[in-house]
Amino acid sequence: MLAERLPGLLPDLGDKAAMEVTAIHSLAAVRSSLTTLIRRPPFENPHHSATAAAIIGGGSGLPRPGAASRAHRGVLFLDEAPEYERRVLDALRQPLESGELVIHRSAGTAAYPARFQLVLAANPCPCGKASGKGVECTCTPLMRRRYFARMSGPLLDRVDIQLQVQRVSLADFGQAQMEEDTGAVAARVQAARRRQYDRLGYLGLDANSQVPGRILRGELKLHPRTTHILDTALERGILTARGYDRVLRLAWTLADLEHSEAPDADHIGQALGLRQAAAA
Ligand SMILES: [Zn+2]
Repeated sequence: MLAERLPGLLPDLGDKAAMEVTAIHSLAAVRSSLTTLIRRPPFENPHHSATAAAIIGGGSGLPRPGAASRAHRGVLFLDEAPEYERRVLDALRQPLESGELVIHRSAGTAAYPARFQLVLAANPCPCGKASGKGVECTCTPLMRRRYFARMSGPLLDRVDIQLQVQRVSLADFGQAQMEEDTGAVAARVQAARRRQYDRLGYLGLDANSQVPGRILRGELKLHPRTTHILDTALERGILTARGYDRVLRLAWTLADLEHSEAPDADHIGQALGLRQAAAA
């Protein structure tokens, strides 16, 4: 449910992004032709039984864009992620770095944009009953390890936020709580995106997720006191160099959501915690 709500929190697409998304979707469309620009960030949730070509792109003749490209500038959601083919999951690493999917076929090579927010969901174990007290779960530790091993370390290293979600009990479900509605959260996201654009627009970038490491550690360099916890994690090998940059990007977003000029040590700590929350 959270994954499906995510596109609703994202701002409308600007002219350039709308044209990119519309172009991909008209290429991918089998019959209907698109007559208006797509202005909302797309949401794609291919089933784990879908073919690699349907998700990554491909097919006979000229390679066609798959769900990952149709999710460009939007959200790609893989429910029960460990059930997907390993080669599909591994193929997602390239666009998570470069924002582009290159498909090689005998008929030729095609490169399609694929800069999406990836949401992976997984059960706590193969039978799905290990959350909460987990008394009904019959999976062995080996079965659980094998299940999660299908998602490779290099893929998970590119996932910035990892959360364990507790099972919702009937009692929780009935409780009326004062929560922010989607519109209020969307307004905060839009304000944070505007700050990012104001800071990064001159570089041709519009979101923290696109900032190259050399700029994060160059023009946007933070004080060593602020990044101390990260520097230590890197030195101890708890964090990869890629993970280091990814924590910085997330910390900038946390600062933008709070209208701060730049991340402080708390933002860095929060970002590092969000990355590791599932492992805890
Ligand atoms: Zn189980």
